[in-house]
Parts: sequence; C-alpha cells; structure tokens
Amino acid sequence: MARYTGASCKLCRREGCKLFLKGPRCYSGKCAMERHPYPPGESGKRRPRESQYRQQLREKQKTKRIYGVLERQFRGYYETANRQTGVTGENLLRLLECRLDNVVYRLGFSKSRAEARQQVRHGHINVNGKKVTIPSYRVRPGDLVSVVDKAKDLYNIQTSIVENAKTSAIVPAWLEADIEHLQGSVISLPNRDQIDLDVKEQLIVELYSK
Ligand code: SF4
Repeated sequence: MARYTGASCKLCRREGCKLFLKGPRCYSGKCAMERHPYPPGESGKRRPRESQYRQQLREKQKTKRIYGVLERQFRGYYETANRQTGVTGENLLRLLECRLDNVVYRLGFSKSRAEARQQVRHGHINVNGKKVTIPSYRVRPGDLVSVVDKAKDLYNIQTSIVENAKTSAIVPAWLEADIEHLQGSVISLPNRDQIDLDVKEQLIVELYSK
C-alpha cells in the first residue's frame, strides 16, 4: 500500500497546526511548528486567500495526514461512511479511528501512527491471537489487540510506553489498555466525543458531496 514518504513536519506547516506525526519531538522545542509556524515554500509567509472551498480542502487534507491515508483510500472511507446510517462525518472519523495502526497508537504501544503502521506491517501485532499485518484492518468491539511475544522487548515498543507516560497520553474510553501485558481490548466503537481530534468533519462531507 502506497504511503506518503516526504517530510512530516512540512505537512503540519501546510495545515497550520500540529498533527503530531513524530512522537516526542512534537512536544519539544524542536517541533517545526514552534520554529517556523507558517507554510513551507517561497510564498509561505504570504497570507492565503480564505474561501469556503479552501477551508473544506484543508480540513480533508489535515484528516488524511493525521491518519496517514492517501486520497484514494480516504475517499473509500468517505463512501463507506456515507452508506452507513447516522452522521456521515462521525462515521468517517469512526472508520479511521478503528484502523489497527491507529488503535496500536492509541493504546500507547507506539509513539506515532507511522510507527504503529510499521509495527503492524512487520508482524508485531496480533488481533485475537492471530497475526495481522494490514494497518488498515478494522477492529471491532470485543477484539483483543496485543504485541506478539517476540516483539515485547523491542526498543521502539518499550520507549513508546515510557514516552507516552511522560506526555501523559490518555487511552480513550472506548479502548482498555493492559500495559503490563502489552495488550488492549476494544470495548465499543468510539463516539465523536471520544475521538480526540480537532477536525471539522462536516467540512469534509461538504467537500465530497459537491
Ligand atoms: Fe508536526 Fe510533530 Fe513535526 Fe511538530 S514535530 S511539525 S507536530 S510532525
């Protein structure tokens, strides 16, 4: 599956807000948004023209970038969300939130979603006792997500636990983490207020419904 391989910090600068793509660095003074809080490139400091379309586009790009999803797959999520009952914007965020790489990140087993994605790809994560190597795998209530035994002592996983404790990262209420055994369960599907994301999902829906 294709993924963005460019500079992560440029994405935050483009969106004008922290997307927390790099783990602990995002909380330090080295964060590019602290040092260069304007869009990258020659005309970065020039004020862009505000339009409704621009707001909708930026909101969509921001969400895609937070979850590390490219356009085609994101569009697929939107179409699935649109077919489901309920509020399309909330459905969309729920689908993204239930991705396995996001769940690994939310449980605190990785410092960023990109790292979680790599852990899944490298076969370090089990779902209900079976290895799953697809980062977009959608978890369901009752699923048990765990780190495989041979990966439990990996430097990345151990440092993530320590770093997440330092930044007081909170496991959302729809998940239950058992840090000692490096596993966590999905208690329910997340509600909008359990998804800690500063995104106006309605703007994304408006963009795609044109
Ligand atoms: Fe974004 Fe993190 Fe880079 Fe800061 S350090 S600009 S929050 S990816």
